[in-house]
Amino acid sequence: MEHVIGLKCMVCVKEYDVNEIDYVCPDHGNEGIVDVVYDYDYIGKHFNREDLQKSTDFTIWRYKPLLPVEPDSEVPPLTVGWTPLYRTDRLASSLGLKHLWIKDDGRLPTASFKDRASAIAIVKAREKGAEIIMTASTGNAAAALSGLCASLDQKNVIFVPESAPKAKIAQLLVFGAKVMLVKGSYDDAFELCLEAEKEYGWYNRNTGYNPYMSEGKKTASFEICEQLKWNAPDVMFVSVGDGCIIGGLHKGLKDLMALGWIDKIPRIIGVQSAGSDYMYQAWKNNEDVLTKPAIDAQTAADSISAGLPRDRIKAMKAVKETDGAYISVTDDEILKAIPMMARGSGVFGEPAGAAALAGLLKAIDDRLVNSDDRIVVLNTGNGLKDVVGAMKSVELVGTFPTYVKPDIEDLKRKLA
Ligand SMILES: *Cc1c(COP(=O)(O)O)cnc(C)c1O
Ligand SMILES: [Zn+2]
Repeated sequence: MEHVIGLKCMVCVKEYDVNEIDYVCPDHGNEGIVDVVYDYDYIGKHFNREDLQKSTDFTIWRYKPLLPVEPDSEVPPLTVGWTPLYRTDRLASSLGLKHLWIKDDGRLPTASFKDRASAIAIVKAREKGAEIIMTASTGNAAAALSGLCASLDQKNVIFVPESAPKAKIAQLLVFGAKVMLVKGSYDDAFELCLEAEKEYGWYNRNTGYNPYMSEGKKTASFEICEQLKWNAPDVMFVSVGDGCIIGGLHKGLKDLMALGWIDKIPRIIGVQSAGSDYMYQAWKNNEDVLTKPAIDAQTAADSISAGLPRDRIKAMKAVKETDGAYISVTDDEILKAIPMMARGSGVFGEPAGAAALAGLLKAIDDRLVNSDDRIVVLNTGNGLKDVVGAMKSVELVGTFPTYVKPDIEDLKRKLA
């Protein structure tokens, strides 16, 4: 990989060659998250916005020269990336805003943002000749891994909490993954997966721990900026669990700045559930995420339930370095945002997806955004991922179906 300089520890800034380590900086156990360092001079000489404009590859691989993979590596055949960025004027004006877009990553092949990361994991694993790829997940990262693995006939092992929504577990089983339902939390599943790595040597996709996951996730920033004709938005809202997406978005924006393709970095606002708001607490109280202990995580937005956000160093930098903020919203606020987003834009998100919109509502109240800001809200997962959550959400806003006999007189009565 001529375009990659190495891997830099986020704790001690020590740099490693890409072949020296696979995951974390060995000096800090599992907490030594590393960041991929690129040679932007080299990339800038071989890749430009005009090349992109001519590209007919509408997947994340259109940005391959900015991704940590060998140029000739085989990529999964499923179409990952280039999800729609909808301008939603009706929803915007109902909120007193002028410019609001929703990026709908519920449209990815396994219906969540995680496809962007799992696609890279598979390429890296196969570059190394791995026989088995595994991950711990609240559900979506696992569905993404198992779906993309199925497209290549790649063996995979999954660790998810047994409490994961049924639709997500169904996806894993349908794709043929070896599914381990962990009798515990996501954090327990994560630790078990790390132990399995030591025991069996399988390739580990775990979020944060695997440095390449934020590199896949950064492609959403590339797409947003390209879809807005390289006129970067002012503010981006995204929900945060482990903090890998938010860190990835930030990395993508920094890449584009380094290449001179955008001229400012948007403020990044991370939205957490009040029942799982480690990052919000740490940001508000100015706590050190390296020493702050895990919290108890409980939320209806299962995808952002993380007691110890594994990518917390990158997640904190994303907000601090962009003059952004963390926002905490209740489960009720999250669930109410599901029908609001669906009715205002036609985009149906799972709870963790709609949480970003709930965060925007709070940011408007707290005057964290201006009415003429150009704002992007990321919907990170499809609403069909969690039907129980969706049903609760419509009940909360007072929407119920009407039961009717197959009889026109009964219909008239019911409509009267
Ligand atoms: C994983 C996930 C998130 C949170 O991403 P992190 O990288 O864990 O912060 C948000 N929404 C959905 C739908 C997800 O699957
Ligand atoms: Zn280190």
